[in-house]
Amino acid sequence: MRHLVCPVCSGAVYFENFSCIACGTPLAFSSRDMEMKPLVGQHAALACANRTGFVCNWATADSEPLCPSCRLDEVIPNLSYPDNVVRWRRIEIAKRRALVDLLRLGLPIVTRRESPTRGLAFQFLSNMLAAHPVKTGHSDGLVTLDIAEADDSEREARRAQMGEPYRTLVGHFRHEIAHYYWTLLIQDSSDLRACRAVFGDERDDYQAALKRHYAEGAPPAWAQHFISAYASTHPWEDWAETFAHFLHIVATMDTALQFGMIGPRRAPIADPYREADFDALIRAFVPVTEAVNEINRSMGQPDVYPFVLTPEVVGKLHFIHMIVRKAADAHAREKRGGLQAA
Ligand SMILES: [Zn+2]
Ligand SMILES: [Zn+2]
Ligand SMILES: [Zn+2]
Repeated sequence: MRHLVCPVCSGAVYFENFSCIACGTPLAFSSRDMEMKPLVGQHAALACANRTGFVCNWATADSEPLCPSCRLDEVIPNLSYPDNVVRWRRIEIAKRRALVDLLRLGLPIVTRRESPTRGLAFQFLSNMLAAHPVKTGHSDGLVTLDIAEADDSEREARRAQMGEPYRTLVGHFRHEIAHYYWTLLIQDSSDLRACRAVFGDERDDYQAALKRHYAEGAPPAWAQHFISAYASTHPWEDWAETFAHFLHIVATMDTALQFGMIGPRRAPIADPYREADFDALIRAFVPVTEAVNEINRSMGQPDVYPFVLTPEVVGKLHFIHMIVRKAADAHAREKRGGLQAA
């Protein structure tokens, strides 16, 4: 995440802040400019309607009541239950982080308004209130999140039960959004064949693969070939886990660079989200993971980065990098074309 500052007093502010800690100016994050804007004064930004209840701290524009993040919500939690307000707040924070990844990468985000059957949208559901069991997942652009995942104790219980080293809200968003990008960038594209060569054939029976995974677990040598045990389930899950991991890498690298954890000599990278040299990115990333893990161990906390990057996994990440850059370039060309036409 970028090092954000207050536009009034230049004090440090964080992505989640609603106002400047130093001077008290109410602030909103502009996803267009990737910076904090004041909500008062001559150049005041417009706050998202979900600022009420401290759910969202983004700015909105174009006379839309909701910001670009909240506009993607199809179903929000039932707020007549007070605990759901807290859950929703946590969920939206994680979602906004994941959306910033996509915007910084320059990826297209097709909304439901633009494509009612395949656009990206979110629904946040509770098992307590649903007629059918709610499962976190993705279907034709619609991402479902079981809001129980916003409870630390519940999520930790599920993580332990599944034997996972990593389970977070932002991880869920990055994973489900990755499925959306498979349909947007791979499904009907000339890269489908190359994608199958890297991740396997997604026409394998998906339901049978899931059943097998939950009955038998991952194959013994999964760590050689996959970033996580779950990635070994099916080519779609391998894609989603690897794509999500690519987002973890660029997001953490960006923070490490912004906060001066690595200098330009060790990492000659200006912007990890736009870095063309994939090998340079990985070379610079590995020492960062070692450092942050040691920092956490020094505090008696679990590893921030409980993963191992094998050559095969790095190869898969390289493919994702290639697809992302291609999509971002095409999207930039499209936007330029649109501007010229207008
Ligand atoms: Zn300030
Ligand atoms: Zn909002
Ligand atoms: Zn998945």
